[in-house]
Amino acid sequence: DFDKETDLKKLLSWADGFRKLGVWANADYPRDAKRAITFGAEGIGLCRTEHMFMEQERLPIVQKMILAKSKEERQTALDQLLPFQQSDFKGIFEAMVDPENNEGYPVVIRLIDPPLHEFLPSYEELLVDVTRLETQGGHDAELAEKRQLLEAVGSMREMNPMLGLRGCRLGLLFPEINVMQTRAILGAAAELEKAGKKLHPKIMIPLVGHVNELKEVRRQLESVAKEIAQEAGRPIDYKFGTMIELPRAALTADQIAPVADFFSFGTNDLTQTTFGYSRDDAEGKFLLKYVEGLEEPGLKDKVKILPLNPFQTLDRDGVGQLVAMAVEKGRKANPDIELGICGEHGGDPDSIEFCNQVGLDYVSCSPFRVPVARLAAAQAALTHTEKDR
Ligand code: PEP
Ligand code: MG
Repeated sequence: DFDKETDLKKLLSWADGFRKLGVWANADYPRDAKRAITFGAEGIGLCRTEHMFMEQERLPIVQKMILAKSKEERQTALDQLLPFQQSDFKGIFEAMVDPENNEGYPVVIRLIDPPLHEFLPSYEELLVDVTRLETQGGHDAELAEKRQLLEAVGSMREMNPMLGLRGCRLGLLFPEINVMQTRAILGAAAELEKAGKKLHPKIMIPLVGHVNELKEVRRQLESVAKEIAQEAGRPIDYKFGTMIELPRAALTADQIAPVADFFSFGTNDLTQTTFGYSRDDAEGKFLLKYVEGLEEPGLKDKVKILPLNPFQTLDRDGVGQLVAMAVEKGRKANPDIELGICGEHGGDPDSIEFCNQVGLDYVSCSPFRVPVARLAAAQAALTHTEKDR
């Protein structure tokens, strides 16, 4: 019971006295945010908004938005989604307000990062339905409707959705999606600020590969922020940042940094794209067999390609080098930039030691991992100090 004064709680508070890294949590809903606070998180480092779109009453609207044939149709769906999103964000912000001073911990909300296929009906199932209706005969109206849907879903179908119309690419093709989400985020913040709370919302853009993508999204957001501030009759204080989760972004971090208030390393995608291993398949299918295979006598000493599971612990020869490079380039180009990590590695003690060494400001991990991360961050700070002596 984390609310009680236990030895563990005491130990963790000692640890907090030593660590340099902030420890934040990944949370998509107010209940996760509250849990994160209980475990000692000092902010939300990643709120993945795509999960909110999956909820039962919203999914049909989301499908209409994706398959819309005109801008007007898309806008109608987005207008229906806006109130849902605004109340989602209000809930998360509220959960992260410290009742003692009415001030919110930082909350990083990431604009939608879909693999689009997750929102759409299955193309294969639709094909089976259409074939069945064609064979049966009759059912003309149903057949026509299913055929239309099949065609629409088919036109969005991707062979490799994780490398497809994902991340910021969606909002660049359909800016009105970014506009809706930004309205919902800043609208929620303005509502709570009006009620006397001080908030620190941060808007994060996923899967950026080139600075021009970020510049364009920033332009979209700034114009919405101006409108919201006018409507609210007060300035809106927010930060704008990006995930660094593609090798191209890490390599060009010096160009990206001046456009961003913060970077958050998305090491799940960065691992996938650096190693060329599918994050959805590698662990469950070939990865462990591959590592074990390489450890067979005779082979072990000859080739050591994967000493660790790179999706769990930062590989210092690969993804780690990209992170270190982006930190250096990013800080040089923008000394005020805030640097964090929100991939799975943010909750792994060895990776936390690495994050401490390269000088990140915070790690963000699952709420349940927050206590371990607090200890690991203190351990890393102490180890470093000992070595420096
Ligand atoms: C990542 O890629 O590391 C990340 C945090 O984003 P997601 O897992 O949602 O792709
Ligand atoms: Mg990612």
